[in-house]
Amino acid sequence: MNNIKNLIRPNIAALAPYSCARDEFKGEASVYLDANESPYNNGTNRYPDPLQSEVKSILAPLKKVRPEQIFLGNGSDEAIDLVYRIFCRPGIDNVVAPAPTYGMYQVCADINDIEYRAVPLKADYQLDMEAMKQAIDENTKAIWLCSPNNPTGNVFAKEDLLWFLDNANAMIVVDEAYIDFSDKGTMVEMLDKYPNLIVLQTFSKAWGQAAIRLGIAMASEEVISLYNKVKYPYNVNILTQQQALKVLGNVAKKENQVKEILAQRDVLKNLLLSLSCVEEIYPSDSNFLLVKVKDANGIYKYLQDKGIIVRNRHRVTLCANCLRITVGTPTENAEIYNALKDF
Ligand SMILES: *Cc1c(COP(=O)(O)O)cnc(C)c1O
Repeated sequence: MNNIKNLIRPNIAALAPYSCARDEFKGEASVYLDANESPYNNGTNRYPDPLQSEVKSILAPLKKVRPEQIFLGNGSDEAIDLVYRIFCRPGIDNVVAPAPTYGMYQVCADINDIEYRAVPLKADYQLDMEAMKQAIDENTKAIWLCSPNNPTGNVFAKEDLLWFLDNANAMIVVDEAYIDFSDKGTMVEMLDKYPNLIVLQTFSKAWGQAAIRLGIAMASEEVISLYNKVKYPYNVNILTQQQALKVLGNVAKKENQVKEILAQRDVLKNLLLSLSCVEEIYPSDSNFLLVKVKDANGIYKYLQDKGIIVRNRHRVTLCANCLRITVGTPTENAEIYNALKDF
């Protein structure tokens, strides 16, 4: 699709955004008496850059996009919620997503009073394209595609993602929170071709910065300007921006840790496969393993009593008796193996 104008909520299209002091004056000055801040310099007395220009100027070349194609938010959660607030009319519109997938898409739909249409994946955890197409109608404003998918760990077939981009009259949101752990390639390179594509990434996983709450949305400049119009003026605080600049200055460290996690993913997989309580481990393009066991509830409780916490996905669609286990350090991986050996 080449025009997203008909997808935008009319009140958002017409919105006059709040203009903060830092929006109105963008240059360098010696005296700032425009924002009612405290004049006493303690490192955090001034409002932060509302558009995080410095972080974006370093992130953009890393991601091979222009700074104007990046939105930074208070975690991916903010970037997810804004999709509803920009595109979906409460009580009228709907979104479509496979099941199982990341839980925040539905929580944000429920909060925003948007119908959430969950379409079960096929048994191999790939998209059921016929059922997805059936679920889409003229009020479908967004399609959520988490790839690599949480909690199944796999990437969706690229031709399926491209089908939505070529045919669906909706925003296509590809959540790549785990992309650093995959060798299957990002959808970021498709951004110039598809104005309705949003690619989500995050500092929370491979970058090791879950605590600073910094999520990334990459999209057409038109979509990013909508994000900027609707977001809270100072949505990313200065401490987060400073920490992001610090880790962006050491890309090699992140890459080495990703390599280590990928090696440990194989180690953990082989250890777990040798256990009699483990029935199957699904292919993973992420930093976790979805592990089918004999008795997920029993093993979950047993591990918890030993101080080892995993994610019990037993009640989730297509995940009966499955535990989601994050790849840890070599010591942590050995600990969970040793505990399970005695189960
Ligand atoms: C962990 C995760 C995120 C990251 O969320 P943040 O709010 O950025 O911490 C996003 N999407 C998926 C699918 C995840 O599993």
